[in-house]
Amino acid sequence: MKPVVAIIGRPNVGKSTLFNRIVRRREAIVDNLPGVTRDRLYGEAVWDERPFLVVDTGGFLSGDDDPFAPHIRRQVEQAVAESDAVVMVLDGRQGLSPFDRDLTLRLRSADQPVFYVVNKIDGPAQEELLHDFYALGLEPLYSLSAEHGYGVPDFLDDLVAAL
Ligand code: GDP
Ligand code: MG
Repeated sequence: MKPVVAIIGRPNVGKSTLFNRIVRRREAIVDNLPGVTRDRLYGEAVWDERPFLVVDTGGFLSGDDDPFAPHIRRQVEQAVAESDAVVMVLDGRQGLSPFDRDLTLRLRSADQPVFYVVNKIDGPAQEELLHDFYALGLEPLYSLSAEHGYGVPDFLDDLVAAL
């Protein structure tokens, strides 16, 4: 069995963008398909010759923009329970939200490694956006740009090393 990596985080932080960057082949493309009710999307990935599965969670339905909605919580909890490693995506442009704080507290008791990723850091000039996140004491913390690729290779090196 290939190890499973769950990508979690509130809507619009860039989970699907990161998923698409990491994954080479996806089981189904659900983004932009109206009426698709699947709540998890699996993709196959390889990094450093190591294969693994990536799970993108949540946000596939138009009503899925409330991160405190019970079904979103269930999706996240189920994805975490089924995974060998968790990637929690945070939004460097938006800063920390109450949902982020809530979820990071829950993740402290996770059995598997958790990687905190501050996304939308599109280049070195934006690293200053990280201050808030450092203050929360999240470890390990990565800054990257899912859209442009900045910081992604270093993150993937550490991710596959933990699988
Ligand atoms: P999800 O709801 O967490 O799956 O978020 P998406 O992957 O759909 O991305 C939400 C929005 O953030 C989209 O408009 C993306 O283009 C944008 N976005 C994602 N990653 C980045 C990034 O690295 N940099 C910037 N500037 N925007 C990003
Ligand atoms: Mg998405």
